[in-house]
Amino acid sequence: MKNIEYGYWWNCAACGAENAYGLTTEEAEEYIADWEADNSDAVADGETGEGACDWWYNVTAEENDAHIEEKHKCWKCDAVAAASTRTDKAKFLDSIVDNLEKTS
Ligand SMILES: [Zn+2]
Repeated sequence: MKNIEYGYWWNCAACGAENAYGLTTEEAEEYIADWEADNSDAVADGETGEGACDWWYNVTAEENDAHIEEKHKCWKCDAVAAASTRTDKAKFLDSIVDNLEKTS
């Protein structure tokens, strides 16, 4: 299992094993360097690869069920992430959005 620096955890529906969606420290360094190389405009505006990495892996990815969308496989049993493996946080954020839509 990965020791992630950025990202979140989800549990496999088939075997219950905990899986990581995210990047290790080393992978994050690579992601940040690549992002900054590809986004020189944003960097000139004061944005950082670290900020982009943090925003995607720690904030946006979980909300968007990234491991399900990207069909990640369980490291232990190889089962593809099912819709039922949504994290509690993603469900919680969704319920807030639902409530806002109902009350507006
Ligand atoms: Zn599994």
